[in-house]
Amino acid sequence: QRQRQPIMAGNWKMNPATEADALNLANGFCALLNQLEDTCAVDVKEGCTEVVLFPPFPFISKVKDIVSKDGISVGAQQVYYENKGAFTGSVAASMVKSVGCEYVLCGHSERRSLFSDSDANINQKVRKVLEYGMRPILCVGETQDDYDLGITQEVCAMQVTKDLRGVSKEDMSNVVIAYEPVWAIGTGLVCDAKAANDVHKFIRTILAKMYDDEVAQSTRIQYGGSVTPESVDGLMAMSDIDGCLVGGASLFADKFARIVSFKS
Ligand code: PEP
Repeated sequence: QRQRQPIMAGNWKMNPATEADALNLANGFCALLNQLEDTCAVDVKEGCTEVVLFPPFPFISKVKDIVSKDGISVGAQQVYYENKGAFTGSVAASMVKSVGCEYVLCGHSERRSLFSDSDANINQKVRKVLEYGMRPILCVGETQDDYDLGITQEVCAMQVTKDLRGVSKEDMSNVVIAYEPVWAIGTGLVCDAKAANDVHKFIRTILAKMYDDEVAQSTRIQYGGSVTPESVDGLMAMSDIDGCLVGGASLFADKFARIVSFKS
């Protein structure tokens, strides 16, 4: 019996190229989910397993129209921390909330490295998402260099502490954390399940210090980094892995349907 509700998320990143392709992907995923003979579709529809898709902004509304009937939520890959104004190209929390987003990714490694999102910015975004009644998925994880230096714990502790600064204990029930070792993202190098589980346990010790044992034990922590149908069952069998954040494999309806219907 799981202590925490599993949450499986698909981050489409800047894919697919057109609206037609995005709607095809959403339709294909729902069709496969409903065809599966095991309990997967039932689990999702009855809310036993939570499933969230993160399409690019222009596709969010139409993807939501397709997937919501199957109990699947949508989220935004990013928001800006200001409420409104002269911030050309940016999207506000109120905007994604108004088109039905329930989740927002915060601190994804691609945002940190390619778009210079600092921990201070990420903290502002996490708080803004919570202010608007949505749930942040806070992504943390070490780079290859950090891993080689043996400082995975220090990096994760620093990111969790800085990115959740000022978030209340009550708001923590709406926060999901994704442990995503940067060296495993998009590389095909999935982290060993036991090693990932150890980092998840470590993150709980940080939450216990920042909040208390209740928050540490109830916060859902996903693993992300090259998750595939082949690796998902081993990961989800781990005591402290509560779901997966999936990039590349979520662009294939069959692969993501299999991942969502993990067997463990
Ligand atoms: C991600 O984008 O968060 C991710 C984990 O990507 P991938 O599954 O492709 O490694």
